[in-house]
Amino acid sequence: AVKAIQVHKAFGDLHVLKGVDMTVEPGSVTVILGPSGSGKSTLLRLINQLETLTGGEIDVDGEMIGYKYVEKKGQRVLQTLNDKEVAAQRAKLGMVFQRFNLFPHMTALENVMEAPVHVQHMGKAEARELAVRELQRVGLGERLDYYPSQLSGGQQQRVAIARALAMKPEIMLFDEPTSALDPELVGEVLNVMLDLAREGMTMIVVTHEIGFAREVADQIVFMDGGVVVEQGGPEIIDNPTEPRFKDFLQHVL
Ligand code: ATP
Ligand code: MG
Repeated sequence: AVKAIQVHKAFGDLHVLKGVDMTVEPGSVTVILGPSGSGKSTLLRLINQLETLTGGEIDVDGEMIGYKYVEKKGQRVLQTLNDKEVAAQRAKLGMVFQRFNLFPHMTALENVMEAPVHVQHMGKAEARELAVRELQRVGLGERLDYYPSQLSGGQQQRVAIARALAMKPEIMLFDEPTSALDPELVGEVLNVMLDLAREGMTMIVVTHEIGFAREVADQIVFMDGGVVVEQGGPEIIDNPTEPRFKDFLQHVL
């Protein structure tokens, strides 16, 4: 599970997250909706420790991220985790961004093999097998040796998903994975995400794809101005309570 408790984040004077609470149950899909600048990406980046908290706490699998309590002279004090401990926590999370971030000089297969070989020190043969499996899983078994420039945006994004999956994450974070795609390519990426959800992957997805949210989400979290304004089951999309959520839905639907 992922638990955000009164999470605050400021960049200098700019207070971006102002006490966000969110719980994501294992095996569930949470879709985060909200206007531009509401802090959605910042929340995902905090969960993945690409940013550090200004206040509050985030737990992944019941373990506080970024910090631990240690005994010092009979006192319980908070200590920052070292790089190795942070890396171990981050290994539980896979992240897919709006832009595909593939290595342009590597084939699809090499892109997916990269982290297992260089981060996990897996043997090349084993990593290759794993990468083939993950690329087949996202429907790219026939494109193993293609370079990113030879793939469509939707295919590139599926390689990015396969690359994240190759690290065997417990939780997948998606930050607007389809918003850089041509409309006709959105569906193939959403379908891969739908399959993942059906396989029981825990997912947190920032997206403006309301249809996907309605169909796949177990939980909807609507953020605005750095707070959670409304949350609930997917039915709240068709029955919003808060005026700001209503207004947002009218603009995206
Ligand atoms: P969008 O829908 O446009 O992606 P968002 O909800 O993801 O928006 P964030 O990217 O989380 O919003 O940004 C929230 C606010 O924090 C914005 O005002 C943004 O300019 C600011 N912000 C984000 N990252 C930084 C940073 N590294 N330094 C300073 N300000 C930042
Ligand atoms: Mg964003």
